[in-house]
Amino acid sequence: MRPYEHYKSVPEMAETIGHKKRKPRLMAVVDEDSCTGCQVCIPYCPVDCIETVPKEKYGIPIPPVQIRFNECIGCQICAKVCTKLTWDAIRMLPTEEFENIYDYKID
Ligand code: SF4
Ligand code: SF4
Repeated sequence: MRPYEHYKSVPEMAETIGHKKRKPRLMAVVDEDSCTGCQVCIPYCPVDCIETVPKEKYGIPIPPVQIRFNECIGCQICAKVCTKLTWDAIRMLPTEEFENIYDYKID
């Protein structure tokens, strides 16, 4: 495989920011221990719901990112971007499983 072919499956960056219209089937969850805090995923999110964890939480210079779960549309773009361009720190969970594990209700 030529080196650039690796990048062909990287999703396009969103040109406009949208918003959630229905309850998603999947939910993006960042593994904070694996996330490098590189922020590469942030501009790819089509609903702009990825943000950095507040610095005070861990007291480290480069904190991981987190998802505002109730805004996520489950598009998987961030997970693909993280896997293709940086690390592999975002898992997509079925929404029902997410709600059970985290005891958090998604609208
Ligand atoms: S691209 Fe991956 S490693 Fe980088 S901030 Fe996003 S989740 Fe973390
Ligand atoms: S799956 Fe990722 S990119 Fe898509 S809406 Fe959720 S946080 Fe944003």
